[in-house]
Amino acid sequence: MKKEILVIAGPCTFGSYEELYKIASELKKRGITHLRAGAFKMRTSPDSFQGLREEGMEILFRIKEELNIKIVVELTSIEQVHKYGDKIDIIQVGTRNMYNYELLKEIGKTKTPVILKRAFSATYQEWIMAAEYIKREGNSNIILCERGIRNFMSDETRNILDLQAIPYIKHNTEYPIIIDPSHASGRSYMVESMSKASISAGADGLLIEVHYNPEESLCDKNQTIDLETFDRILEFIRKYD
Ligand code: PEP
Ligand code: MN
Repeated sequence: MKKEILVIAGPCTFGSYEELYKIASELKKRGITHLRAGAFKMRTSPDSFQGLREEGMEILFRIKEELNIKIVVELTSIEQVHKYGDKIDIIQVGTRNMYNYELLKEIGKTKTPVILKRAFSATYQEWIMAAEYIKREGNSNIILCERGIRNFMSDETRNILDLQAIPYIKHNTEYPIIIDPSHASGRSYMVESMSKASISAGADGLLIEVHYNPEESLCDKNQTIDLETFDRILEFIRKYD
């Protein structure tokens, strides 16, 4: 069956205009309409790079204009929602903020589409209720994103991809569901097969971390795929959309 599959791609984060521009141009060449890159990073350690923050947002807006590409950005505070919520194309809620109901309510007051990532230990009901917090404020343009849940062998994989979330969400809700195989596995060699499995299982799209040179990634380089791998995933998706 043919259907429209949303592919959102980009680096986890970026350190300069040049780096992001180069990635975005490669994506654009491949027909990708949505660039995702983090400016405000929710890092486990406060010692890790936190993103270029406001300066990063300026770079994202510049590239959006220059390349005519939509931008998907994680916002982590109410203040950021007020400042950028109406200016970006999709607001991402990260896994660590799924339970931040005050933030969700504020995002619900915007008209901007939202990607709501599942918290890494959330039940389906908790995830759906988080979406409800956004919806109650008037914004029902919500895409759910499964990004892996906690597992008992984190030395081998970062999280574990819950593919069952796809049929569950499809069967029980009206929301589209996309899969983030990058954070789910934490391993770049797993991203291609998990992307294909997700699309085969009925996912409406993918959110993938891609870099022209994954080794240079400032964040999450172990799960970031190169452009050759990304091309193989796109080729597979073409059979579906
Ligand atoms: C991200 O998308 O870069 C990210 C930090 O994801 P998550 O919130 O799923 O960990
Ligand atoms: Mn990341």
